[in-house]
Amino acid sequence: MAATERTNEGVRKADRDHVFHSWSAQGKLNPFTIAGAEGCYVWDFEGKRYLDFSSQLVNVNIGHQHPKVVQAIKDQADLLCTVAPQHANETRNEAARLISEVAGPGLNRVFFTNGGAEANENAIRMARGYTGRQKVLSMYRSYHGSTTSAISATGDPRRWANEVGVAGFVHFQGPYLYRSPFYATSEAEECARALKHLEDVLTFEGPTTVAAIIVESIVGTNGILVPPDGYLQGLREICTRHGIVLIADEVMAGFGRAGAWFAHQLWDVVPDLITFAKGVNSGYVPLGGVIISDPIAEHFADRVFYGGLTYSGHPLACASAVASIQAFHDERIVENAHRIGEEVLAPGLAALKERHPSVGETRGRGVFHCIELVKDRSTREMLVPFNGAGDAAKPIVELGAAARAKGLLLMTHWNKIHVVPPCVITAEEAREGLAILDDVLAITDAYVA
Ligand code: PLP
Repeated sequence: MAATERTNEGVRKADRDHVFHSWSAQGKLNPFTIAGAEGCYVWDFEGKRYLDFSSQLVNVNIGHQHPKVVQAIKDQADLLCTVAPQHANETRNEAARLISEVAGPGLNRVFFTNGGAEANENAIRMARGYTGRQKVLSMYRSYHGSTTSAISATGDPRRWANEVGVAGFVHFQGPYLYRSPFYATSEAEECARALKHLEDVLTFEGPTTVAAIIVESIVGTNGILVPPDGYLQGLREICTRHGIVLIADEVMAGFGRAGAWFAHQLWDVVPDLITFAKGVNSGYVPLGGVIISDPIAEHFADRVFYGGLTYSGHPLACASAVASIQAFHDERIVENAHRIGEEVLAPGLAALKERHPSVGETRGRGVFHCIELVKDRSTREMLVPFNGAGDAAKPIVELGAAARAKGLLLMTHWNKIHVVPPCVITAEEAREGLAILDDVLAITDAYVA
């Protein structure tokens, strides 16, 4: 094996020689290199440090290299590296118990997967088995993963190239007051009209044909869209009335991100199935799963569940989840995410909006915030259009590069900057990131009409 030169350029070149990346034209890639990380910082091979305002792919909720999680993986590796899914395993048991506990009463069983897409894939499978119905409804502004059912449920353009004629997936408009599809002018109006629209879709689709409605409790990649008060409660009522399974996709919003264990808990809603991944163990080892309500678990007590994975409940992944959830409790990490959101990010971002004409709106909960950039505040024209790439995306690409040069790692998407640091971020670190954002927003301001 050829030795890779341990420099930014050496690692980048070796990557380009052999690694095939997600969602990309391979020839256009110039990946950022990370040599190491700790807490909220990563560094490259030249030792330059970056504040990670992206949490990688919005998954490193506990921060990088948490010593207790790293130790738990090492200890489990010494004890038992792998076990088949059909055998009982103490580490898996404990992970399932701790996850059920934070999900709340009536959600007592966990089916483990390797990530979020498989979690949604299997939640849909469970909903179909439970109801005997086929159809699945989801929002246009959504992402649920890249496997067949998950990408069919996805509303955003990542679905377009993957439409292989899977029947029974129907999309609807969710609430988004800043760009209201319903011409609403208040949260209450947006909520009522979005629910009425969903009722209409159900009427035309036939509610008795619908197995599940799957929603991100707070929409993630498609814009950190916080539902208006009453929306998730309305969705719960509609699902209950029609015998439809409500699946809360908490893959991105869960495990502290929104300042609660799960985002739907902010509105006291109890879903029938909850899907999770990312923050459950911050991706130290791949893990995801479905938390199953008692009636659905009971349904499968004497009926076969036709789904499975060799690595379901992998002990290394489960050990890291156990250590991570324990650290969340001990270090009050969910509370920290909530406090940072309320006291630093929300007011700090609002202040950026005051100073920068390219900021149309800021919104979010916990450490799950977003800056939406516009060309013109009065028309709300997006700074980068829907699905914009290449030249159209230039303003946001320039902003991202400038932030990186100043030591801030950002996640951007079309006309949005996602402000999604680890849940363990301190007020001082959050302010450091906001100050760099304040500097680089001058770049997008220059594009304002
Ligand atoms: N659901 C949501 C809300 C997500 O944000 C993602 C990934 O970003 C997924 C599902 C898919 O998860 P994974 O990439 O682990 O398959």
